[in-house]
Amino acid sequence: MYPWLRESERQLTALIGDKQLGHALLLKGVEGIGKRELAAVLARALLCQHTNLTDHVTNHVTDNATDNEKGAPCGHCHSCQLIKAGHHSDLHLIDGQQRSIGVDAIRQLTQVLSESARLGHGKVAVIEQADKMTDAAANALLKTLEEPAGEATLLLTSAHPERLPPTIRSRCQQWLLPVPESGLVLRWLAEQGLEPSLAALNVNQGSPLVTRDYLAAGTDQRRRELLQQFGQLAQQPQTLASVQSGLLEQPVHLLWLQLLLQDALQLALGLSPTGLRLADSETLCRALSRRGPERLGQALAALLQLRRTLQPGAGRPVNAALQLGQWLNDWLINIK
Ligand SMILES: [Zn+2]
Repeated sequence: MYPWLRESERQLTALIGDKQLGHALLLKGVEGIGKRELAAVLARALLCQHTNLTDHVTNHVTDNATDNEKGAPCGHCHSCQLIKAGHHSDLHLIDGQQRSIGVDAIRQLTQVLSESARLGHGKVAVIEQADKMTDAAANALLKTLEEPAGEATLLLTSAHPERLPPTIRSRCQQWLLPVPESGLVLRWLAEQGLEPSLAALNVNQGSPLVTRDYLAAGTDQRRRELLQQFGQLAQQPQTLASVQSGLLEQPVHLLWLQLLLQDALQLALGLSPTGLRLADSETLCRALSRRGPERLGQALAALLQLRRTLQPGAGRPVNAALQLGQWLNDWLINIK
């Protein structure tokens, strides 16, 4: 298990061991924190034949169960073996890979959950990215949450729990996985053979797995190049088109620019450079900070506005290239 999830894993499996876990659990946490992996361990713990042994036979449990944390899956029983092999008939997964989770998928799920367990150790359903449920799907699930089908446990995960109907949230036991402390994540990323930095973690909002993928894909290098190019626009106006298309490649590239300008503004206001989010771009931030707080503040406000209008679902479609081009022109005019 990821080091930042071990404590949650220990506490939640202990609840399972004590039979204190409710029939529906909502795991909340930012994208890339490991909700899927944690839900998988909990599903194994719930279905494990040793975790589920009743008290009077506990004496005969193998050493494995006693060696492990209370409630942790043994890893050896028939049930644990079936899950490892990927075909446990009492474990059901909706993986949230599709754009939305429709009512048919949920109806199918609630139907199997209402049948009795094949192996006799309860049933578990995992619904990943549960906030992708359509209104009809959420309604269909509500009935199961209101009248839990005997031995079924539902494990929901979501990075956007606020998008779930309150009626769903209130019927689940909620468990928040906090963004882990940066030092812990940086050590873990280094153990994965990557070259992490606080800046890389900050542009990915502290998410360990998103940062891992970002570093592995070489995107951090791209960020530094693009921001460097932006910083030199005044000297090299011929790169304008390339900077513009670079910033539009991915929505997150405008966030990089925003963090850079925020850092520059912080320096322009005479605040401490140790608090910079892009600490690896301090030289660049210092150069930009000479524009002064007022101009930086204006550029930043316009950029925030631009990012808002470019967000999906922000209303009427906008011409991103046109808007960003306008912003870059204003930036260049102001520079002179
Ligand atoms: Zn087991």
